[in-house]
Amino acid sequence: MTTLAQEPPYEPYEPSQDPWARPAGYATHDVTNQPPPLAPYDASDDTVLLEGVRREGAAWAEDGLRRLGRRAGSAEAQDWGDLANRHEPVLRTHDRYGDRVDEVEYHPSWHHLMRVAVGEGLAGSPWADDRPGAHVARTAGGLVWGHTEAGHGCPTSMTYAAVPALRAQPELAALYEPLLTSRAYEPGLRTPLEKQGLLAGMGMTEKQGGSDVRTNTTTATATAEPGVYTLRGHKWFTSAPMCDVFLVLAQAAGGLSCFLVPRVLPDGTRNTFRIQRLKDKLGNRSNASSEPEFDGTVAWLVGPEGQGVKTIIEMVNCTRLDCVMSSATLMRKTLVEAGHHVRHRSAFGARLVDQPLMRNVLADLALESEAATTLTLRLAGAADRAVRGDAGEAAFRRIATAVGKYWVTKRGPAFTAEALECLGGNGYVEESGMPRHYREAPLLSIWEGSGNVNALDVLRALGRSPACAHALFEELALARGADTRLDAAVARLEAGLGEASGTGARRLVELMALTLQGSLLVRHAPPAVADAFCATRLGGDWGHSFGTLPDTADLDGVLARALPGTD
Ligand SMILES: Cc1cc2nc3c(=O)[nH]c(=O)nc-3n(C[C@H](O)[C@H](O)[C@H](O)COP(=O)(O)OP(=O)(O)OC[C@H]3O[C@@H](n4cnc5c(N)ncnc54)[C@H](O)[C@@H]3O)c2cc1C
Repeated sequence: MTTLAQEPPYEPYEPSQDPWARPAGYATHDVTNQPPPLAPYDASDDTVLLEGVRREGAAWAEDGLRRLGRRAGSAEAQDWGDLANRHEPVLRTHDRYGDRVDEVEYHPSWHHLMRVAVGEGLAGSPWADDRPGAHVARTAGGLVWGHTEAGHGCPTSMTYAAVPALRAQPELAALYEPLLTSRAYEPGLRTPLEKQGLLAGMGMTEKQGGSDVRTNTTTATATAEPGVYTLRGHKWFTSAPMCDVFLVLAQAAGGLSCFLVPRVLPDGTRNTFRIQRLKDKLGNRSNASSEPEFDGTVAWLVGPEGQGVKTIIEMVNCTRLDCVMSSATLMRKTLVEAGHHVRHRSAFGARLVDQPLMRNVLADLALESEAATTLTLRLAGAADRAVRGDAGEAAFRRIATAVGKYWVTKRGPAFTAEALECLGGNGYVEESGMPRHYREAPLLSIWEGSGNVNALDVLRALGRSPACAHALFEELALARGADTRLDAAVARLEAGLGEASGTGARRLVELMALTLQGSLLVRHAPPAVADAFCATRLGGDWGHSFGTLPDTADLDGVLARALPGTD
């Protein structure tokens, strides 16, 4: 029997500076045919991303993105992502004396990730940046920095998204916007206006309803002071509860209204924000998602009473874009991992990357990833131009963001499962990181409007605003005549619009998403990519799983673009 005092029966592992050098082997066998670590790598080494950034008006951000990409792919930052998910946040409800504190403690890795994200402008800073393309640069930064891990993207996204909603109450915005747009990350519960930078969360969902927030039962009672209310009730999901302020929906005398709720009041005392529990979630484990209770909680009205949904929808427009961005990031990250593995692993006498069927799988994933990234950046460009007053882009953004949110997030789980399988059994093991990405993927189609809700929202946009349909078809018309399969699909879409119904909403929105992605690829991607996408996703020459591209597809052309070095 081996005791602790004895030497272990194998050489101890010594971390090496050289990622290619393996530790000394076992007595029984040599370790071969296992890929070297991917890190360090450059997460911004992505032609599709960089072309999209230039096209959508943020070429000026390229140097910063390249720097962030190298940082994201460093061994240190990849470790932060891993550690922040292994060491989950812990809720402390009380202090040692029995007083309520309602604090959540995070692993230091979470704070490292947050500090870089906020410092690199991935939270609210684009709203304080007049440069055209500022919102595109932020989205692209998310596509790159998201290679570390997804959970901390929740508070940065909500902080970004809170700013336009808060502007409905200019005197509050004047105080809080400079801090929500700051690049300073200052964790800890302190008087908000005395901090260098703030984070914002949102509380809409209650036990009895999340999609249908009209069922909210939390009440808001006006005090003698104008604009100041007290809340009583609960929320069933409120993520990142250590944020400084929250936009919360509650029922006031005039109906469902939006409020700003600080965790700490201006006099330095704690507002009542009792965290009952943290959720035990499928994924997204670095991020805390809480169940708060309000009782006499001080809240400030944002926008008119009774206009809560209209006010907070400004926030949801932004977080939906981030859901699309996060799905595209998961796709790219898992594609890069898969590409790396198959380049270094052999089976049946050849590298996996040289096996024709594996090339088909990888190329199919690469097509999906390119379509997702290209659409994400087009949506970010629309958001950027819309906030600068472009009405046509605002109408396009309104419908296309809901379309993209529905489709790109729906593709995430199937995509990450297939990418994971490229690593074989290693992909099913936590150390590979792939299970974490896989578990994250379904969340993006649940929050900020689940699949059905988004699909129905597209129908609502079509019904209420003719400008939305006009903007969508104007966009599709830019590619008219370039590909017969795309033209035929757009004709089907036009015919289907007249018969749009609740039951058929997913089918219609799926066709919108595919024609939109197809039109973007026909205009901006090389022929190998555009042709394979149109043949499969629009022309029907495709199976029911990834890796079923037809013989006519130029696999080498697709792979050379997505994963240089796989040829
Ligand atoms: C990890 C996590 C973090 C979250 N963080 C937050 C947060 O910070 N703040 C917050 O407010 N919320 C948060 N949420 C809640 C999230 O936004 C809701 O779960 C989501 O909006 C769905 O609401 P629900 O859970 O009440 O489901 P329901 O509204 O009950 O929906 C259940 C299903 O019914 C479908 N459905 C609903 N209406 C229709 C319809 N008319 N026709 C057909 N189908 C329909 C939905 O698409 C869904 O598939 C979080 C959720 C998760 C999982």
